Amino acid sequence: MKRIAALLLILPLFAACAPREDKRTFFAMDTVMEITVCGEAADEALSAAESELFRLDGMLARGDEGSEVYALNASGGGEVSPETAELISRALEIGGLTDWAFDVTVAPLTDLWGFYDQSYRVPTEEEIAAALPLVGGERVEVSGSRVELGGAKIDLGGIAKGWASQRAAELLRERGVASALLNLGGNVQAVGSHRGKPWRVAVQNPDGGEYVGVLDLTDACAVTSGDYQRFFEDNGKIYHHIIDPKTGRPAESGLRSVTVVCADAALADGLSTALFVMGMDKALELWRAEGGFEAVFVAADGGVYVTAGLEGRFESRGGYKTVK
Ligand code: ADP
Ligand code: MG
Repeated sequence: MKRIAALLLILPLFAACAPREDKRTFFAMDTVMEITVCGEAADEALSAAESELFRLDGMLARGDEGSEVYALNASGGGEVSPETAELISRALEIGGLTDWAFDVTVAPLTDLWGFYDQSYRVPTEEEIAAALPLVGGERVEVSGSRVELGGAKIDLGGIAKGWASQRAAELLRERGVASALLNLGGNVQAVGSHRGKPWRVAVQNPDGGEYVGVLDLTDACAVTSGDYQRFFEDNGKIYHHIIDPKTGRPAESGLRSVTVVCADAALADGLSTALFVMGMDKALELWRAEGGFEAVFVAADGGVYVTAGLEGRFESRGGYKTVK
């Protein structure tokens, strides 16, 4: 239970909905998911969202022999469903946008460090050097629903939950749900608002204890990537699960966590991983150049930095700096 709690990066803080609140908690995509729906007919909507998340898990889980991603990695290329092709395209787009700090072809590296099947170990220099040439999103080509991996293997773990939460939120909206909160293991998506006010979502402190701050979300999502989510210790050193595709090692960019806030959950998920790898300076350069998202950074020294677009939407008792 302790491990599961550690994986919940953002804890939603909210009072009970009125007149009716329905909540569903289940385990999918290797994480605890919790969906809260306010209003009537919530039960049917929750069931639809839950089945959709299990369906997407079955389609995208790299380790599941029945999944499309498993088949694709085994064959090296071929036809996939239009959905999977679209997700891979989005992932490659975010890769290009972030100078491949986000790269779904990190699979050989996540394997090497044992993050894929929890067989954690520190690989040798030689092993890393041998795996690095297999990594590179530029090798992958998508045309229509055909995907060619070009010798790479893909791991959609850095984007699948965001993508899935967006799909689940769409399903809820189609069923008339106007107010809901989805928490897919720290990928939080708000549908509408909560009793006329924004949903309130806490950004977890990487060291535990008091929240770093609270975000107001209305029809937006917040996704955190941090070094405290999944890690192991070897010889007194901590190794976490976000790999710098350029070094083949857990990223050491001076950050403890990055929370990305935007309307597009797949983008938020991919970017949270990417910005964590890039570090704050490069992340802010990207933010200034591209826009379309906001972020909360927690630095190694505990400092909290918040992009200017979150002005009025972020509250913190511990204090923070606004960056422009
Ligand atoms: P989580 O999935 O734990 O919420 P992230 O969204 O940051 O956290 O994704 C981390 C996962 O993404 C890793 O477990 C691994 O599967 C994959 N991954 C690790 N490093 C990268 C990277 N640089 N680019 C793309 N995916 C990555
Ligand atoms: Mg991510």
